[in-house]
Amino acid sequence: MPYRAPTSEFAFLLSHVAGLPEVSGTERFAHADEDTVAAILEEAGKLSEEALAPLQRIGDVQGSRLENGVVRTPDGFPEAFRAVAEGGWIGIAAPEEYGGMALPMAVTTAVNEMMSSACLSLQLNPLMTQGQIEALEAHASEEIKALYIPKLISGEWTGTMNLTEPQAGSDVGALRTRAEPKDDGTYAVTGQKIYISWGDHDMAENVCHLVLARLPDAVEGTKGISLFMVPKKLPDAEGKAGVANGLKVVSLEHKLGLHASPTAVMEYDGATGWLVGEPHKGMAAMFTMMNNARLGVGVQGIGVAEGAYQHALAYALDRRQGKAEGSGSIAEHADVRRMLTRMKADTQAARMIALANAVAIDMAAATGDAAWKARAAFLTPITKAFGTDVGIDVASEGIQVHGGMGFVEETGAAQYARDVRVTAIYEGTNGIQAMDLVGRKMLDGGEAAFALIEEMVEGAGRARARFPEEAAALRDAAEDLREATEFLVAQELRDRFAGAVPFLRAFARVLGGHFHLKAALADEGPAREHLARFYVQRLMPEYRGLLEQARAGAEGLYALSLDDLAA
Ligand SMILES: Cc1cc2nc3c(=O)[nH]c(=O)nc-3n(C[C@H](O)[C@H](O)[C@H](O)COP(=O)(O)OP(=O)(O)OC[C@H]3O[C@@H](n4cnc5c(N)ncnc54)[C@H](O)[C@@H]3O)c2cc1C
Repeated sequence: MPYRAPTSEFAFLLSHVAGLPEVSGTERFAHADEDTVAAILEEAGKLSEEALAPLQRIGDVQGSRLENGVVRTPDGFPEAFRAVAEGGWIGIAAPEEYGGMALPMAVTTAVNEMMSSACLSLQLNPLMTQGQIEALEAHASEEIKALYIPKLISGEWTGTMNLTEPQAGSDVGALRTRAEPKDDGTYAVTGQKIYISWGDHDMAENVCHLVLARLPDAVEGTKGISLFMVPKKLPDAEGKAGVANGLKVVSLEHKLGLHASPTAVMEYDGATGWLVGEPHKGMAAMFTMMNNARLGVGVQGIGVAEGAYQHALAYALDRRQGKAEGSGSIAEHADVRRMLTRMKADTQAARMIALANAVAIDMAAATGDAAWKARAAFLTPITKAFGTDVGIDVASEGIQVHGGMGFVEETGAAQYARDVRVTAIYEGTNGIQAMDLVGRKMLDGGEAAFALIEEMVEGAGRARARFPEEAAALRDAAEDLREATEFLVAQELRDRFAGAVPFLRAFARVLGGHFHLKAALADEGPAREHLARFYVQRLMPEYRGLLEQARAGAEGLYALSLDDLAA
């Protein structure tokens, strides 16, 4: 079933729900007017449908392979990557001075979602590069920026992020890769990195690795980490990719999904690197890349949800079983209708949260306002975790809609579920996202959370005349969320962490209701109204049980000993 890019849906949500007009109203993003954005969405949609979607299955079946030390991508990948680069999509949010389009993150988010729906494996490559561009722009020297950013934007070179090591996954502070200063101002980087996405490939002439490593005088933990640019090929005097650097791909992982995206074990053996940012401040610099990527990974989940939904709907409309009214297809059965509507409503809720997250990032960048910054920071772990959980749930439901054919690879339903599974793991597991939300993101005493809750209460007020029951449910839910947040910020960190995952999901559930009602109010037609009612009446109430779990504290979790667990 071919993918159809929901471009007019994005245009509607950006204009009427997420707040793009406010972004376009700033000097920085004045060029992102409604017509320009609509044209951009159309172009990106076309590329996703025509160049990327046909590679989805080929990528899964062929996968990327390591041959004589060189990674070969599946048929058609280099050409499609070139089309992405030539369309300017890698540098969509990058500054114009380096050849980027300087468009808002809100537009980038919509474009990235369409590409993720069409072919997640391929889209991961430009996503990594986009994050690298942002990190370099914020932290690198002028020489490094001038040399690398234009080539990353043009797709001549691509970017990776190298944090993970065998003993340092979620605990990045445990990493051991070392960087020794050399006389010429560069560094010799030595160590092993694992799980490096797109660590090597044949789609571009150079691969630029941003590597976290320790200087000789580094203290233990995250405070002793520095960031280095370590290219696969060393730039020559003219800035072209020259001789090979001291690094190699040792092997590629065999994975559950995302087969076309090579996941590399990398070995650095005295490789030449350049310091990015200040010594020992590498984590802060890498966080620029990671925050961008966390929103981007949430959006990957949503993109897969959309693809899986379209697939399931097409199948359901075609398949006939039992007595069914109307079309005669299984889509007429109540339980199939429940599954399809849930898939659509959840995808939409996560999408609206992600777009609002991106708008907050844009407003923070355009105005420097602390409240926008705090909102962007607060929403990022929610988008990442909820977006990817929705991707996993919807893709799984998509298999169910297909019945036995969902378990058979040819339909493509299973691939969505396999590919999307990792999005809840990489870029910081969803558990780590939730701890970030109730820990670091509530160091303000919950101010950013309370500001959002207040907006939900106001939104409920606006919805009261047209949707009295749903508005009342949203107001009650927002008040429950307020109480739970007040409770949580008063707890010890250990108790907060114990309830972090359910709290994050409860927050997302209620926020989704707020956005669904906002969308329904902005539209005269009945479809959004029905979707909002379905969400608020049937999906949002999940928040109650979640908040109970969020308040339950840590003690009960440890009541069952490790021996009991093993018994
Ligand atoms: C396909 C793929 C691509 C990847 N791409 C990249 C990449 O490009 N660059 C890169 O650097 N890395 C990459 N990664 C690595 C990825 O970011 C890590 O796998 C992830 O951060 C989790 O680390 P881990 O696998 O060591 O799991 P662990 O850290 O061992 O976690 C195992 C479990 O314990 C939980 N846990 C761990 N610590 C805590 C804690 N303090 N509190 C509560 N729970 C905790 C986790 O949530 C998880 O459920 C990739 C991984 C995969 C699978």
